[in-house]
Amino acid sequence: MRLVLIGPPGAGKGTQAAILRKDLGIPHISTGDLFREHVSRRTALGQDAQRYLDTGELVPDDITDEMIRRRLAEPDTQGGFLLDGYPRTVRQAEELGSMLSDSEGGIDAVLEFTAPEDVVVPRLLSRGRADDTEQVIRHRQQVYRSQTAPLLAHYAARLLTFHAVGSAEQIGERVLTALKERGLVTRRDESA
Ligand code: AMP
Repeated sequence: MRLVLIGPPGAGKGTQAAILRKDLGIPHISTGDLFREHVSRRTALGQDAQRYLDTGELVPDDITDEMIRRRLAEPDTQGGFLLDGYPRTVRQAEELGSMLSDSEGGIDAVLEFTAPEDVVVPRLLSRGRADDTEQVIRHRQQVYRSQTAPLLAHYAARLLTFHAVGSAEQIGERVLTALKERGLVTRRDESA
């Protein structure tokens, strides 16, 4: 199963991806994590990406698309994947569609996680990542609203929306139930 997770920074995408990864037995691919790994390993890609991460701007598409293309070529993605943080623009969604050589994008469902800004900002501040200063957080929320939110219309036919209310486990259960109701998860898919 191929899933895309969308939501503003701090809405719990990464947490849900970690839960679903276990339940569904498919890899969690986070562009933010991949970039941070490159930065910490001081690769050329990491050096190119760092200033964008520091300010909360999107890393240019040529760098991002190529990194994802390589990751999706790895054998563990054969049975599907959870994409967290990509695509982040309509253009990246189109690029993903062509990578998966499927006009529909080859995506089974898009999971949207919503949470109000006054809930996510304190949550991110307590997380303490390098790009979790209040100014950068506010900017990332703005980038989400202007560049990423339009993706929701692009994926309208496959969109499942979850309000980030309740514990991570409760939200994860709601996601699994919704995927089962749509016939996307069968007993065979569940690795647990
Ligand atoms: P995240 O961990 O998803 O909050 O991403 C952290 C940072 O990585 C973002 O603020 C961007 O600078 C960069 N980033 C992650 N995913 C993408 C993407 N799909 N396109 C461009 N930049 C990205």
